[in-house]
Amino acid sequence: MKSHAKVVVIGGGVVGASVLYHLTKAGWKDVLLIERAELTSGSTWHAAGGMHTVNGDPNVAKLQQYTIELYKEIERISGQSCGVHITGGIMLAGTRERLDWLKMAKARGRYLGMDLEIISVDEAQKLFPLLDKKHFKGAMYDPIEGHVDPYGVTHAYAKSAQIGGADIVRHTRVTDLKARSDGTWDVITDHGNVHAEHVVNAAGLWAREVGRMVGIELPILAMEHQYLITGDMPELVGKKEQLHAIDFEGEIYIRQERGGMLMGTYERAGVPWSPVTTPWDFGQDLLPNDLERIAPSLEVGFAHFPALGAAGIKKVVNGPFTFAPDGNPLVGPIRGLKNFWVACGVMAGFSQGGGVGLALSRWMVDGDPGADIWGMDVARYGDWTTLAYTNAKVRENYSRRFSIRFPNEELLATRPLRTTPIYEKLLAEHAVFGDYCGLEHALWFAPTAEEASDQISFRRSNAHPHVGAECKAVQNAVGLLEISNYGKFDIRGPAAVEWLSRMMANRVPAVGRIALTPMLNDRGKLIGDFTMCRVAAEHVFLVGTYAAETYYMRWFERHMPPAGVSVRPCAMEYVGLAIAGPHSRALLQTLVRDDLSTAAFPFMSFRRMEIGMVPGYVGRVSFTGELGYEIWVTTDYQRALYETLMRAGSDYGLKLFGGRALNSMRIEKSFGSWAREYRPIYGPFEAGLDRFVDLKKSEFIGRSAAAEEKDSGGALRLATFKVDATDADAIGDEPIWHDGKTVGWVTSGAFGHRVNHSLALGYVPAALAKADSGFEIEIIGERHKAHRLPGAAFNASGELMRI
Ligand SMILES: Cc1cc2nc3c(=O)[nH]c(=O)nc-3n(C[C@H](O)[C@H](O)[C@H](O)COP(=O)(O)OP(=O)(O)OC[C@H]3O[C@@H](n4cnc5c(N)ncnc54)[C@H](O)[C@@H]3O)c2cc1C
Repeated sequence: MKSHAKVVVIGGGVVGASVLYHLTKAGWKDVLLIERAELTSGSTWHAAGGMHTVNGDPNVAKLQQYTIELYKEIERISGQSCGVHITGGIMLAGTRERLDWLKMAKARGRYLGMDLEIISVDEAQKLFPLLDKKHFKGAMYDPIEGHVDPYGVTHAYAKSAQIGGADIVRHTRVTDLKARSDGTWDVITDHGNVHAEHVVNAAGLWAREVGRMVGIELPILAMEHQYLITGDMPELVGKKEQLHAIDFEGEIYIRQERGGMLMGTYERAGVPWSPVTTPWDFGQDLLPNDLERIAPSLEVGFAHFPALGAAGIKKVVNGPFTFAPDGNPLVGPIRGLKNFWVACGVMAGFSQGGGVGLALSRWMVDGDPGADIWGMDVARYGDWTTLAYTNAKVRENYSRRFSIRFPNEELLATRPLRTTPIYEKLLAEHAVFGDYCGLEHALWFAPTAEEASDQISFRRSNAHPHVGAECKAVQNAVGLLEISNYGKFDIRGPAAVEWLSRMMANRVPAVGRIALTPMLNDRGKLIGDFTMCRVAAEHVFLVGTYAAETYYMRWFERHMPPAGVSVRPCAMEYVGLAIAGPHSRALLQTLVRDDLSTAAFPFMSFRRMEIGMVPGYVGRVSFTGELGYEIWVTTDYQRALYETLMRAGSDYGLKLFGGRALNSMRIEKSFGSWAREYRPIYGPFEAGLDRFVDLKKSEFIGRSAAAEEKDSGGALRLATFKVDATDADAIGDEPIWHDGKTVGWVTSGAFGHRVNHSLALGYVPAALAKADSGFEIEIIGERHKAHRLPGAAFNASGELMRI
């Protein structure tokens, strides 16, 4: 084994082999893969090899499409067959809701260029004669589903990488990793050591253990997974290969395997494997079968596909593979560790392995993944993903693999985990809570405890009128919202302002002022949106998205000067309450000594104040578009602040409101939100953030690309639509049509209670940005007329916020 390599990839499963191949393809030749045993010795060897393009996250779906298209390329380079069978596939709906879900998936596929089709049960039976029609209501057909040979794919990647210059060492286990002070790594193995510039953890079933070698606990857990293969079936003799089928209600996937059928299930009572430590002596082994555990699914399967029951079971496979809490991969650099990368938690290696390898190799070689991979970024998780949290969430996710997730559905595992001091008080006010990064936050308030739960639906739910009443209270009097679930960063030091000015596209505000700002990457794309609150000459309180805290800190630390600035994430040290509405000033004025008149404390002011007995920061800003204030206090004061505001508020018609009402009001104002309107695939001018990009100030990251975008106008434009919807509003990812063609996609949607209309925000080609008619938005399979609005639906001039 060589003693030095630019990159050591740990793990020769499908993912490590793909990373290795993509690194050579990107031009890095001095790359070495180290495998403990033979290639494929983790989850890979016993996988069912199924692949499909559909994914809940459109950006992950694109990478799945890429993976499937890649197999021809690696077969050509390596001469190794991947055993590709493109059979096509059908997803079967047994309920009306599932058919709605399929219609939405088909609609989303439309702007991703996927050729999906909703078909009747009769058509489904023609394509897949093994099904018993009476259990189904319809189906979706996808022509590019199929399966591959896991051994063939892994070896095709590996051989292609070797042809590209990579080395592969087998039967060598990485036993430890030691960081050198220059950021390079000593990779310690049982057959000698390698000095590497970069290390990639692609250790699959052992990724958690490899993570522990560098002091991190990756949120992944292996689950046992069983599939069976039937005896040969006369029904298949002389026929074209059967399609892949997913039967959601049966929680079953099926495909042909030689003369029989392969049937697998994600059972409700899934069982984790090696929940704490994965044994190193586990190799190309299988786990004992437990047919009893999957008996309920098998029973349904044999009823829905009767010929399978008659064929008998020839073989059962029970093997483990890993999942992250949300079921998507963990990819990217680890915050705080130089040159240490992960590509693990890949639960669908044969649909996703290529895309993961592509994104990671680009990230390593170019410094940027080259695609929007927020949904797979390892930095989407933080400290709350303890071992037990991961265990509970992975089990929940596994058991729901084939379940519908409704847009208003909150999952229950791990709840409540993190709470703020006023949690019980809000509960007593009949709050319906949501979970965000493990933290409970109020979504809406029900009139009575009995009514305090959502009826899950794709359509407007029981919450609709109550959310409407909350919006009206904010519009006509004053509302109170907990805003603790934002990320906060305390930035200090003599170089703080200069550094922040380089990181952000907008000018750092003067002391006592607030400025909104996008953060751009080197390509001038959006990687964050923040509120900068200038506390003092050398002190800024920065507010942004909490889910992206690790993602931001990784970026901040990468761009930190040697001295002069400190950045401290303090999301849970400072929690907050916001008040908004025309009476908010009068209410707050009864509690503070400071003059709150617009002359003394205008819009976008920020100051330390005492609110009754509570010391805090008060900012005059509101995401609702009304006159409003955000108040940040240390956690120990939140309860007192809440009681103080509630007491004083009774004279002003104060009403609690939650996240749903806030979402409706920010959409009425065309205010974007991270991971919806603002993502690394959009530029700031495309997103309509022109006024927050100051090209005249000193140099900042992404400036030249942003200037180019300004000159060219960019390819896309974020637009606001008034939608002629009936009982269901857009939620995001619906196609936008214009003159009979799909031209864009929705990023957010809601009913605007203050304007009494259904609304949607979404991107359309820049050339269409001025068109106001001819648009339609497809909601649950039906196209609804949509009118592009020239500005925000509610108070476009913004005067209400400034009065
Ligand atoms: C029963 C079953 C059915 C499945 N069906 C499908 C399917 O139909 N479609 C699909 O897409 N996916 C399927 N999967 C999932 C698929 O197998 C995984 O997504 C994929 O194998 C993950 O690959 P990986 O490279 O990340 O991990 P692994 O395959 O676990 O590879 C990790 C490799 O790293 C090596 N390694 C670990 N630690 C070290 C170390 N310290 N030093 C050196 N080497 C090390 C291991 O020996 C191993 O070879 C299935 C899985 C199972 C169990």
